[in-house]
Amino acid sequence: MSEQQNAYLNAMGIDVWVERTPSAPVEEVQSIQTAAEPNSDQVVTDSLPQHIPEIELTTNIESLDWQGLQAAVSECHSCELSKNRTKMLFGAGNQAASLMVIGDAPSIDDEKFGEPISGEAGKLFTAMLKAMGYQRNEVYITNLVKCPTSDNQDPTVDEVDACESYLVRQVQLLKPNLILALGSVTAQRLLKSKSTMSRLRGQLHYIDTINVPIIVSFEPGYLLRSPNEKRKAWEDLQLAMKELSIQNDSTNE
Ligand code: SF4
Repeated sequence: MSEQQNAYLNAMGIDVWVERTPSAPVEEVQSIQTAAEPNSDQVVTDSLPQHIPEIELTTNIESLDWQGLQAAVSECHSCELSKNRTKMLFGAGNQAASLMVIGDAPSIDDEKFGEPISGEAGKLFTAMLKAMGYQRNEVYITNLVKCPTSDNQDPTVDEVDACESYLVRQVQLLKPNLILALGSVTAQRLLKSKSTMSRLRGQLHYIDTINVPIIVSFEPGYLLRSPNEKRKAWEDLQLAMKELSIQNDSTNE
């Protein structure tokens, strides 16, 4: 592990385990409880263009490009969550990213800052990405549902289903090598599973609608409340890094 990764793991407040010798037991070397990394690079947001082109809303979402899809979402009233929409949170980041990150729903902080996974959770998440070797603007981040839920409640199965075609189209346009699904609600809704996080973590998942491997980890907001789980989150990120490395190698062959 590089010194830089170590520094970012420290900023995440993750207990870093290192190997003394190849055969020696590992030992815990450091634990810092706060995510101190400033969220200065949360700058790349798919904010709507000032003038959204008039598009004829069509059920053929599969034909839409990024701009058309974003415009379609901004006009969508397919579920009750549209009533909560004051700011459209379509997604943020690099539209050619190899890593796509999916959360459950925009939070109050996300609305305030105008992009997914903002606020204190966003600071921690930025540190997590840096520990993986990514700047925040090198990945693409979105949510299962594009409109906020009331009082940060979990989106219902019906709401996620109503919004699913937009997410699927985002994946088709992005063509990521890997999806990181954050949180139990995201994982269960996306994988259409009732399994617990302990069962869903630590493996690759594949679903019919999205032809991209999916890895499950904890949402940053949960990690802020449960810092003891940060080491497990780092294991998830290491699995993601390994899979991304394999995918990149096969692409370059
Ligand atoms: Fe439409 Fe999705 Fe918003 Fe529901 S959450 S109104 S399906 S964009």
